[in-house]
Amino acid sequence: MTFAQLWHELEPLGRDPGTGGYRRYSWTDADAQCRAWFTAQATKLGLAVEADNNGNLWAWWGDTRENAIATGSHLDSVPDGGGYDGALGVVSALAAVRMLKDKNFYPERAVVLAVFTEEEGARFRVPCLGSRLMIGAIDPGVARALTDDDGITLAEAMAAAGADASLLGPRDDLLDGMAAFVELHVEQGRALAPMDAALGLAEGIWPHGRWRLDFAGRADHAGTARLADRKDPMLPYARTVLAARRAAACNSALATFGKVIAEPGGANGVPSAVKAWLDARAPDEATLEKTVTSVRSAAERFCAEHGVTLNVRPESYTPVVRFDDALRDRLAEVLAAAGVNAPVLPTGAGHDAGVLAARVPTAMLFVRNPTGVSHSPAEHADLADCEAGVRALALVLEDLAR
Ligand SMILES: [Zn+2]
Repeated sequence: MTFAQLWHELEPLGRDPGTGGYRRYSWTDADAQCRAWFTAQATKLGLAVEADNNGNLWAWWGDTRENAIATGSHLDSVPDGGGYDGALGVVSALAAVRMLKDKNFYPERAVVLAVFTEEEGARFRVPCLGSRLMIGAIDPGVARALTDDDGITLAEAMAAAGADASLLGPRDDLLDGMAAFVELHVEQGRALAPMDAALGLAEGIWPHGRWRLDFAGRADHAGTARLADRKDPMLPYARTVLAARRAAACNSALATFGKVIAEPGGANGVPSAVKAWLDARAPDEATLEKTVTSVRSAAERFCAEHGVTLNVRPESYTPVVRFDDALRDRLAEVLAAAGVNAPVLPTGAGHDAGVLAARVPTAMLFVRNPTGVSHSPAEHADLADCEAGVRALALVLEDLAR
């Protein structure tokens, strides 16, 4: 099947009819549908599909498990996410293998297509959970106990989906058998369009993390509690959002509150608590630390003024990632030889490739996003650019696997 045919099949899975956005959360029915679809497509291509102990899928082309060339991405989404983030890399990998098989290419080394689980951290709040487990960057016991918004643990969610969380843990054998990992991903941001380039190569990933801020006040009646008597946690929270924006602007960093829960959540009451999540990213770790520290000290100051207590704890942290220079240069050469211009870009978005880079030479190929919008139903890439991405990925796999 061509890229367009594959895309057409995957497109409706896990899409919310109301918002048009995707809700492909790990270990849900939508996730099971996406996994089944990938497994069926890879099997049709003659690949041997295996689920590993961490819930990641691997589709092998070739029998050897040494010096394999891996490609792929993820199929889970953020709440009401776009269709391209993650899925583009998976569908392009299938289409690239189809293209190579059609020209009777036979890889000297195994080519393996990967689908990582819980990349977005949308359900269990730790992004790149599947790849982090694989490299041993998160303790399996800690992972099993992670909970979603309904209090369901990862272990329970996996069991309900027919997977065994007692097996979670590092896979040095898989990592040691991998010579390179190349992740194709839709561009998140808008750097390629002004350069008139359909494709780009990644330079590195900004350090980034998530912090949870708990503002604890006192529940009260919205109609009877005098303003002066209130301990309203919404007020220091609101001021903290504005302070985060200022801190980010001052430091040339990024800071975002994208999720907030007011408890108990009554429309006619002062909340007892506000739980909020800060996502912060910066070009280097010192700037990131400076940004988060300034948000935190502003929140502490506002809390003191409003009689509210504050508790801040980090939920995830990813240091700066440098991709493999030699691998990127090789990709650039292969693409240049085929007349493809692929400028090198930095990115603020985390990826499984960034996690794997700690253990395996890793590179990323970006496909132009004309508006730059991502993590939204408006996320888009033109079919012609997606097809250029597939051709580029096929060239790269052919070069690396020969
Ligand atoms: Zn992604």
